[in-house]
Amino acid sequence: MEYPKELTAKTIAQVLENVAAAYKIKGEDFFRIRAYENAAAAIRHSGEDIKQLWQQGKLEEIPGIGPNIAQHLDELFRTGKVKHFDQVTKGLPDGMFELLKVPRIGPKTAYKLAKKFHLNRAQTAIEELKKYAARGKIRELPSFGEEKEKDIREILESFTLRPPERLLLVEAQKYADEVINYMRRSRSCEQIEALGSLRRQAPTIGDVDLAATSKIPAKCMAAFVAYPKVKEVLASGENTARILITNNVQIDLKIVPQEVFGSLLQHFTGSKQHNILLREYAIGKGYSLSEYGIKKIKDQSASWRTKIKNLNQKAENFRFTDEKKFYNFLGLNWIPPELREGTNEIEVSLAKKLPQLIELKQIKGDLHVHSNIHIETSHDEGESSLGQLAAAAGNLDYEYLGISDHNPRTSEITEKKVLEVLRRRKEDIDKFNYSSENNVNKRGKKLYMFHALEVDIKPDGSLALPEKAFPMFDFLIASVHSSFRQDKKKMTDRIIRALEFPKVKILGHPTGRMLEQREGFELDWERIFAICKKKEIFLEINAWPQRLDLPEHLVREAIKAGVKCIINTDSHAASQLSLMRFGVAVARRGWAEAHDIINTLPLKKFKSIMEID
Ligand SMILES: [Zn+2]
Ligand SMILES: [Zn+2]
Repeated sequence: MEYPKELTAKTIAQVLENVAAAYKIKGEDFFRIRAYENAAAAIRHSGEDIKQLWQQGKLEEIPGIGPNIAQHLDELFRTGKVKHFDQVTKGLPDGMFELLKVPRIGPKTAYKLAKKFHLNRAQTAIEELKKYAARGKIRELPSFGEEKEKDIREILESFTLRPPERLLLVEAQKYADEVINYMRRSRSCEQIEALGSLRRQAPTIGDVDLAATSKIPAKCMAAFVAYPKVKEVLASGENTARILITNNVQIDLKIVPQEVFGSLLQHFTGSKQHNILLREYAIGKGYSLSEYGIKKIKDQSASWRTKIKNLNQKAENFRFTDEKKFYNFLGLNWIPPELREGTNEIEVSLAKKLPQLIELKQIKGDLHVHSNIHIETSHDEGESSLGQLAAAAGNLDYEYLGISDHNPRTSEITEKKVLEVLRRRKEDIDKFNYSSENNVNKRGKKLYMFHALEVDIKPDGSLALPEKAFPMFDFLIASVHSSFRQDKKKMTDRIIRALEFPKVKILGHPTGRMLEQREGFELDWERIFAICKKKEIFLEINAWPQRLDLPEHLVREAIKAGVKCIINTDSHAASQLSLMRFGVAVARRGWAEAHDIINTLPLKKFKSIMEID
């Protein structure tokens, strides 16, 4: 395996993913593989300066990095390689690791292809494989066939066409927040805000763009380019600058006078489609819009074409210090950035019927949280104890928390043992609800802990849990964790069958998508909504940064269909409970109000809607 020349979050994550893949090929045990995969994901999406953490001796502060991996990373930073990793990857062709960068090519496939075609050089592996695919050579391999060859060919083609990697919302937000806080501390600007897709809280973000107002732009600029994490100043002028920071993230800043801040914010928040529709609407009212303000179009009776031509003529600008005044001037209610996607938000705003969007502070609990109770789970365990999770929930002022570890590995353990470990776990949770340790809510209120479980939906729609175990739970979350490539009909049938089981109240991460990695599967949503309504099942808005699943357009459709949602973090460590804000962002983008989201309910009402006595 070749080591990266530059150690960034992304390249370090790749090294760890390679080690996990090598372990898989060599048949290492499940938990070791998981440990490396989790560490890689944690680093990739931490938004941290990993090198700096290493220098401060704080690598283990990233959830998922234990002492072992921290030690290997220390060697990587010091010497540029790791002896242990060399041993693990020994004998595996370098081309295999290159193929792993292609989405949907897993370790086993990558290994077989690289081995068979002698793809020993990383630099040429993908190009060479394309040639073999074009010549029909892949289908000849055992267990490949024509279909799989076609699949691989398509994947390889779209791989080169893939746009440059985008940041996940959580990462972009973190980079932006850090710069914004730094700029505020510098006292060189008055207002500073994120723009574009970040301000709209889209699931993935291209660049981080900021706008600020300042009476002394030069001082503000000087502070910006002196940001401690700057690697390179790519451009700097009087009112704009572009810096490159840790992990090769690019950040742009515009500085404008206060009097045009409202129009600038509006203009650069987008989306493009929203601005097009808003411009058309404004022209209809005789106005033209720009980042500098609003102008009256002179000749009202002129044709549309003349009006557009007139836009370029000089006219007096109406200026706006804030956005609300900008929208109000046009006869509209202010439209929250999350709704500015160019659907029907302008009409709805004009009719004064915009939703009262749900807010983070209205959330009263998190119902999909993994703990470190050992029950031989089918997938990864959490890292935190019940006490740690409860303390974190208390800090968020929650009233309740649902502990929902993965089900035990029913295929490997006897039913008797499964029931035994589950009973023991229930005792732990029950005990917790009565213990004095549990008095943690900010208002001194006791936190209520639900006894739940996240159960695998097997390929045929049955659940990976023995029938006898069902009654002991407060509720179950049913989730698809395997066989993602079933067709729409089969997948819909599968999920509906799963939702029919007793105690199932939540469909976890309903589309199975992984942002930047895997598209979600297709479902017949009308049928899914129908059973959710019939059985009072709630669709999860999973706030995990790579998931943000249910996607926003489906949130909106679900609500229209009368289905309620629940926002959960799927946390695997206490610190991750704070990811809730990103799930709330998805809900807002899906036009959700508090009453559409059931975990805004106080404990008693929540229990009643979940049919828990
Ligand atoms: Zn899951
Ligand atoms: Zn989960």
